[in-house]
Amino acid sequence: MVSSRRKREIAEIADQTRRLAGISTYGINDIFDACQSLNYYYLRYPLMDGVLGAVIKRDAEYIIFSNSSVVYSREIFTLAHEIGHIRLGHLNSETQTMEDTNHTISSNDEKEVEANFFAACFLIPKDALLKIIEVFDIVNFSILDIVRLQSVFNTSFETTINRLNYLSIINEQKLELLKLQKKEQTISSILKSIGNDANLCIPSNVKAISMDYLKWIQFNYSNNLISKATAEKALGYLDISIDSIDIEPVNSDDDFDFDAFWEDDDE
Ligand SMILES: [Zn+2]
Repeated sequence: MVSSRRKREIAEIADQTRRLAGISTYGINDIFDACQSLNYYYLRYPLMDGVLGAVIKRDAEYIIFSNSSVVYSREIFTLAHEIGHIRLGHLNSETQTMEDTNHTISSNDEKEVEANFFAACFLIPKDALLKIIEVFDIVNFSILDIVRLQSVFNTSFETTINRLNYLSIINEQKLELLKLQKKEQTISSILKSIGNDANLCIPSNVKAISMDYLKWIQFNYSNNLISKATAEKALGYLDISIDSIDIEPVNSDDDFDFDAFWEDDDE
């Protein structure tokens, strides 16, 4: 168990780390940049096994590894978790390497719980979250509201709703309801719920997503213009599964020439 006193300490260390990394935005626009600002080396590599990330201490230097084959928001969380291990002093001359899998990250090991708490505070600081809720005038915390928060903080659906619940902004009942609704949600129903022409606009000082982005992914994937992996990555950012896209990509046997298509368009 991590005491509430220790949790307050960790939240403070997370704030300090943001300042040290020169982060002044609500969400972290580029956590890899932040890593560099903190003078940690990072390595991203798509691995198919269960490793999510790792951190290695070499004298005074730290190297963070993250598996880039997982959805992007998951990779960002792993990075924040590994930064947590460093900033909370979990590495020392005895423990010079820590490796994370789904199993370690969800375990009750005190260091893992601490690193997860650090990651949540680092990615979604309480004050920033309260401010954004006010700016967006969020009252009901619908699925769409959660997606908007995700787009600001670059976090997964789970991380976002858990943080809201931890800070008592939504209660347990609402948390469970959102989890259930999320399961039933498809990309089409999100589009329908907003109306086809509506753009999801977010102030430009934070990360922006628009419905055009979703339509763009859907169009390109269904016409086989982008690979499944690319579509998955783009959708993963919004925590939407590729299976929720209604249309299967067509087979590219018909030799569609994308370059010629654009050239024709210019005439
Ligand atoms: Zn860990």
